[in-house]
Amino acid sequence: MDDLYRELILDRYKNPRMRGTLDPHDISYEDDNPLCGDHLRIDLRLDAEGRIHQAAFSGEGCAISLASADLLTESIVGKSLEEVRKLGKEDILEMLGIELSPVRLKCALLSLKVLKAGAYGLAEAKDLD
Ligand code: ZN
Repeated sequence: MDDLYRELILDRYKNPRMRGTLDPHDISYEDDNPLCGDHLRIDLRLDAEGRIHQAAFSGEGCAISLASADLLTESIVGKSLEEVRKLGKEDILEMLGIELSPVRLKCALLSLKVLKAGAYGLAEAKDLD
């Protein structure tokens, strides 16, 4: 692993910027990665235009899963749910900046999975209105 990126991940793991919960929130979703034991929850607050106004994550897991959640929640503030739905695996890998084994990849992508499930869930709920 590249030293610079390893430092970034350890820094985010030890000093997360986005850790916490939002109460009340517009969207909250949680899920886990049983392969590693990672468990993440992401809370979002939307503004009047439906953009993400605040984001926070909570949970427990390995350094990769928590660093990924911290970077991801920070990056989505100001984005619309439509933009969030377009985020992919490449965006997470670019943020982390390292090559990951398939097992570690599941750790890195848990935050995206939780975020997307939350964002899609609300859209589906709105379609039912
Ligand atoms: Zn993990």
